[in-house]
Amino acid sequence: MFISFEGIDGSGKSTQARVLAEALRAEGRDVVLTREPGGSPGAEEIRRLVLEGDPDRWSAETELLLFTAARRDHCERLIEPALAAGKIVICDRFADSTRMYQGLSRGNLRPQVDALHKMMIGREPDLTFLVDIDAETGLARAKGRQGPEERFEDFGLALQQKMRAGFLALAREFAPRFRVIDGARPPEAIAAEILAQTRAALA
Ligand code: C5P
Repeated sequence: MFISFEGIDGSGKSTQARVLAEALRAEGRDVVLTREPGGSPGAEEIRRLVLEGDPDRWSAETELLLFTAARRDHCERLIEPALAAGKIVICDRFADSTRMYQGLSRGNLRPQVDALHKMMIGREPDLTFLVDIDAETGLARAKGRQGPEERFEDFGLALQQKMRAGFLALAREFAPRFRVIDGARPPEAIAAEILAQTRAALA
């Protein structure tokens, strides 16, 4: 089973991905926890190329090609072999993030995103948890941990609002794969709901 986590910056999705991996491992399940952009050595190199340094180094189109290359490597080297071996793969961001970041916020490239995905990736998660949080809360949390890798041009409230609405629209487009999780609750309550939904999907 392939599970992805999506959400705006500061949504808490990375924490929830880790907590779900730990809970499933505690039940004796074989779990691979990974992330995008990155997740394989080659894809992590591409992540650094794109996310560190001058944010205007690459055009939106080039960035889309680089992240698609990263995803291809990640799928070839890690995700597909793990799924073929019957493992549960949990990925912090996957193709839905590209539909949003390269398809909506950086450029109006959704047709190109879809064409490249169909041609070079093909894989969709079985289950996607959208950890939904209001833009103000996400922004405040993300600003608190801004580091060398963060995309500072992404830290505007209007953009966060646009991304939140975009993710919710994507959840409707790809229902029932998507599960929208209210990320404003205590982390334990969110984790319990995600674990219950995952167990139901695994049964
Ligand atoms: O999820 P994480 O915090 O690791 O993402 C790092 C940054 O990468 C995000 O803030 C987002 O701006 C950027 N990103 C992107 N395109 C993607 C995925 C992530 O620009 N497809």
